[in-house]
Amino acid sequence: MTGTHATSTATASEHATGSKPAIAPPLWLLAELTYRCPLHCVFCYNPVDYTAHHHELDTGEWIDVLRQARALGAAQLGFSGGEPLLREDLEVLVGEARALGFYTNLITSGVGLSNTRLGDLKAAGLDHIQLSFQDSTQALNDFLSSTRTFDLKKRTAASIKQHGFPMVMNCVLHRYNLPHVAKIIDMALAMGAEYLELANTQYYGWAHANRAHLLPTHEQVAEAEAVVERYRNTIGDACKIFFVVPDYFERRPKRCMNGWGAVFLGIAPDGVALPCHAARGLPGLAFPNVKSSSVREIWYDSEAFNRYRGLEWMKEPCRSCDEKTRDLGGCRCQAYWLTGDAANADPVCDKSPRHGEVVEAVRFAATAGESREQPILFRNDANSRTLTAASPAKAARQ
Ligand code: SF4
Ligand code: SF4
Repeated sequence: MTGTHATSTATASEHATGSKPAIAPPLWLLAELTYRCPLHCVFCYNPVDYTAHHHELDTGEWIDVLRQARALGAAQLGFSGGEPLLREDLEVLVGEARALGFYTNLITSGVGLSNTRLGDLKAAGLDHIQLSFQDSTQALNDFLSSTRTFDLKKRTAASIKQHGFPMVMNCVLHRYNLPHVAKIIDMALAMGAEYLELANTQYYGWAHANRAHLLPTHEQVAEAEAVVERYRNTIGDACKIFFVVPDYFERRPKRCMNGWGAVFLGIAPDGVALPCHAARGLPGLAFPNVKSSSVREIWYDSEAFNRYRGLEWMKEPCRSCDEKTRDLGGCRCQAYWLTGDAANADPVCDKSPRHGEVVEAVRFAATAGESREQPILFRNDANSRTLTAASPAKAARQ
């Protein structure tokens, strides 16, 4: 595809039809450059059947996507994966993004982020780096990723600072590392992170397959929240800490992606366009591909991006609920995985008739001596192929 779509700047008013509200342009583009990754995290958000989607857009195709999305109005751009550093053209894409006026963020495990590449990315105009750790201890960091990467990540964090990048440290939380939250914060402070994202696990992808191992107890979540609050009160502006209570422990769902097709546009490695990076496995939706549709057509006109936009798709109890404009019925993927119908209320909501599924999962996590019969599954090609061969539909929807 060429850059012919790049000149068609859309305005929201152009897309108002009849009594329907105007569709605002996308603001946030997530470019998932590859599903390849040297790590094997048990909570990885990539689809379980990622090995079935091995084709990757080439450099020219990605540049075309960036131009089209920027022309529509996208301003924030995340490069993620898999591990985006496995793409040798990352610096070229960052340079193009900078020239287009995007604010760019590299979301990385740090593996492959040598001083040479840091210098090249700086020269290309990269704004921001988000570096992930699995824990504050080498043992757990390396166990959860099934690699020996803890010391490397620490050295990489120091190099990021030396190159003058603002740094977000990210750590995905679950029952294994929630008791270490204080030490994780201490580590972030020692490394000079400007922001610390304590991201409680979202149960999709590999995290959903490993839910029985990862789901914490109420007590763990409450204690971690109290620790975070104590730090916030003492460290001031030294580091901004983000901590969001995991969905399963709430009575109302989050406003997932700030609404389906509202601000977020994700492009998977093979060019499939997604309103949420977990949506790929939802059945009955033919997600469009940038190889055959323009970004403009995808965003404004595709059936997939319009299916759950706004409020009209809602069923009861959301349809008549006086809170529907606040949370937009929650997460479509969670509704599908837990109830079998993506148009149902997110069962995290205690008004949902299926809320019991969430209560039961949390009860199971808290049960002393519970049986976790299935061994923990590391995200790797062999497990992906095995799970996909055993049940293609199940692997696709996780
Ligand atoms: S979560 Fe872990 S395995 Fe998955 S893409 Fe990120 S670093 Fe790689
Ligand atoms: S019923 Fe639906 S709209 Fe109402 S609070 Fe629950 S999820 Fe939100």
